[in-house]
Amino acid sequence: MPVFAAKASGGVVVDVDGNSFIDLGAGIAVLNVGSSAPLVAAAVAEQADAFTHTCFQVTPYEGYVALAEKLNSLVPGDLERRSFFLNSGAEAVENAVKVARSATGRQAVVAFDHAFHGRTLMGMSLTAKAAPYKRTFGPLAPEVYRLPYSYPYRCSAGASYEECGPACAEAAITAMDRQIGGDRIAALVIEPVLGEGGVIVPGDGFLQSLSQYCAEHGIVFVADEVQAGFARTGRWFASEHSGIVPDIVTTAKGLGGGMPIAGVTGRADLMDSVHPGGLGSTFGGNPVACAAALAAIEEVERGGLVEKAQRIGETFSEKLRPLLEECQPVGDVRVAGAMAAVEFVSDRGRKTPDPAAASRVLARCHEEGVIALKAGTFDNVVRILPPLVIGEDLLLEGLDVIEKAIRAV
Ligand SMILES: *Cc1c(COP(=O)(O)O)cnc(C)c1O
Repeated sequence: MPVFAAKASGGVVVDVDGNSFIDLGAGIAVLNVGSSAPLVAAAVAEQADAFTHTCFQVTPYEGYVALAEKLNSLVPGDLERRSFFLNSGAEAVENAVKVARSATGRQAVVAFDHAFHGRTLMGMSLTAKAAPYKRTFGPLAPEVYRLPYSYPYRCSAGASYEECGPACAEAAITAMDRQIGGDRIAALVIEPVLGEGGVIVPGDGFLQSLSQYCAEHGIVFVADEVQAGFARTGRWFASEHSGIVPDIVTTAKGLGGGMPIAGVTGRADLMDSVHPGGLGSTFGGNPVACAAALAAIEEVERGGLVEKAQRIGETFSEKLRPLLEECQPVGDVRVAGAMAAVEFVSDRGRKTPDPAAASRVLARCHEEGVIALKAGTFDNVVRILPPLVIGEDLLLEGLDVIEKAIRAV
């Protein structure tokens, strides 16, 4: 947007000219606890005053350990866990793959259609979309295999909404068995809900079947929760909706309450198998960022933001689902807690993607002072990711603007 931010909090961004915008993007699912959340701002100030950096491998500090222990207890499953910290989601994914390869002695890595895993070499290699993420940046990392993701609206196996999960799981498992070999695969890296791919919630049974296949073949199941995690979908982690227990969970975006930090949290036996000094980062788990993350977790707990995300999801459903009946270009509406998407098509029968409609809706929203995001492999999805602390009135005001923009287009 052609505006420069001067101040932000609680779901409102004020620009340098004094205009206010309703923030339904949250800095791409980062500001779950809001911008400059009180506990986060105080923790950052206090830690900055005490010390700003030592490098954890050189001189450790309590905040890093406290955050690792907290994440170990929050991720799904009752397993012994270890965590370490980096600076970005892409680095978390890179390091999850390093752990999986080192622990298994295998090389192959499986990723999925419509996936986004960051912009580093391994990150963009695992990412599905060529433009803009991979174009002109090759060669890409070898030993990455792409399999179908369950996308019920556009099931690649041609199955119905109800059957898409099992059908796509079967296709993916057949490919792992026949094309790669289950005993050659180090890691399966997957978003439990696709974010950049267009808020795609996989069909029932999809994640469970893949998780079971991984367990049977010694494959490390990596849930990339960078976007869908941290209370966004109405659970601490999106994996919880399907009851799976990932071997490794990657976190970033919402983790630091607006400060840059990313986490890799994995089964203790996998994490401990890596040689000393093999993993690390100069800035990773910076003390100010760790203090911010601990405060952000407290904001989620004190503010009941996991439940709040569920309520935001109900509001989304009430406001957006009727558009499916009433507006021709709306092909699909998807809601996963406080993550929502409207997918635009120019022909409902053929489901022809209509990226121009999505662009026009977003342009109108921006003119009317609402920040929302573009997403999807076909660039035809409007994605809505409000801060979880947003007031009900402000959320409804923002959704009214989006609804009017959709009806106008
Ligand atoms: C944003 C994102 C990343 C990359 O995070 P960066 O901090 O931009 O490197 C990785 N995985 C998922 C699922 C993401 O949404």
